[in-house]
Amino acid sequence: MSVESLQAHSVEAAWTQYDGVDAGPTGLNAFLSVDREGSLAASVSIAAEPHTRNGHAAELAGVPVAVKDNLATLVLPTTCGSRLLEGYVSPYEATAVRKLRDAGAIVIGKTNMDEFAMGSSTENSAFGPTKNPVDRSRVPGGSSGGSAAAVAAGVVRLALGSETGGSVRQPAAFCGIVGVKPTYGRVSRFGLVAYASSLDHVGVFAQNVVDAALGLEIIAGHDPYDATCSSRPVPALRQAAVMADSKLPLAGLVVGRPVEYFTDALDPRIRAHCDASLERLRALGADVRDVSLPHTSLAIPVYYVLAAAEASSNLARYDGVRYGRRGNADGLREMYERTRSGGFGAEVTRRILLGTYVLSAGYYDAYYRRAQTVRALITRDFERVFAEGVQVLFTPTAPTPAFRIGAVSDPYDMYLSDIYTVTANLAGIPAMSQPIGRVDGLPVGGQFMAARFDEATMFKAAAALEDALAREADA
Ligand code: GLN
Repeated sequence: MSVESLQAHSVEAAWTQYDGVDAGPTGLNAFLSVDREGSLAASVSIAAEPHTRNGHAAELAGVPVAVKDNLATLVLPTTCGSRLLEGYVSPYEATAVRKLRDAGAIVIGKTNMDEFAMGSSTENSAFGPTKNPVDRSRVPGGSSGGSAAAVAAGVVRLALGSETGGSVRQPAAFCGIVGVKPTYGRVSRFGLVAYASSLDHVGVFAQNVVDAALGLEIIAGHDPYDATCSSRPVPALRQAAVMADSKLPLAGLVVGRPVEYFTDALDPRIRAHCDASLERLRALGADVRDVSLPHTSLAIPVYYVLAAAEASSNLARYDGVRYGRRGNADGLREMYERTRSGGFGAEVTRRILLGTYVLSAGYYDAYYRRAQTVRALITRDFERVFAEGVQVLFTPTAPTPAFRIGAVSDPYDMYLSDIYTVTANLAGIPAMSQPIGRVDGLPVGGQFMAARFDEATMFKAAAALEDALAREADA
């Protein structure tokens, strides 16, 4: 991956790249809307009058960025990849977007996604799938597939995505880039369209670990507009990702290898890359140990009960009265029905029905309450290994490499793409994916997870592994 700095990229260069890769029937379809004129004008004015923050040159002055289409922006529409919100423009801006712009970044466009962030391939977008820049016959992963493709194709070097169960890490793995989901509460969710509020996070994509750390450092921190956003100070995350000049940069770091993430569901070629990465970590001084997270196998059913339950409640607001498109009808009830059945796609409808079912009287205890109980057990598994001295966990990000567009048609098979990622959302811990090798030319992602609010240790380990893998490739 590129070693050039994030700050060396310009808005003009972004458009040259965009014109070459995104448009037309063979293009990536990574963007749903773009602001060419506005972004070029902003870059001219920033160049003429250098952007500063607190008297210092702003870290991202003039840097082009892309934003997933479920984060509210003032200029471009925010559609969530849905017909229901086609053309909808928000009256306010997401905090994460505002913080990037305050640092001098310029939003060039909104990126394609699975409708309302439900999916693992970006095929559930109402506006057509995004293609994987590494192999255009394949999916880029999802739901933040447009942002991942935009970074992997070099249109931008920093993009925002969102995660409820893996929607940043899994597309990062499929496209061969870095994707980070912070601790729940580290980044404000204000202006992120709600899917499942107890699991939703804003995350970042970049071409390397240090750029991702810088992006996260900029968007993190307390926000009075999000009651779940933590007031803990944000540590120097970029600094954590800068390699110490040492032969054993990870000396003494305790890395856990959760045995439940290395089962038969895992493609053996991906397992081989993970084993090789664990060997590298040992060679860098880490103490690698097997650990057990015994409730891991329950994570997928628990996630799909809780996410659907929360989604059925959050998506009730799309009634044709307040947002987006309205279905024409004489009566109110008929108007609701036309709006919702005409506006939502198949997967969103399935989740709303599933969520309504698990919350209904008579089933609530059997499904929703039970899933909440098991969620607590999954969280406790992580708390226990971190309390026992493990500092980071290392696992595969996804069980397979990017699959072909159209190849996974059974929704349950699609849900299994998330087996290694949903756990971190359920527990609220930070996690990230980075490229660790290739299988048949397709990128493979390795995942680090850390204790709540310990992104710094995660970045330190990731940067050391990235450096070791790059040196090996050069040798
Ligand atoms: N694939 C998962 C889902 O469909 C996760 C999506 C996400 O993280 N937004 O719910």
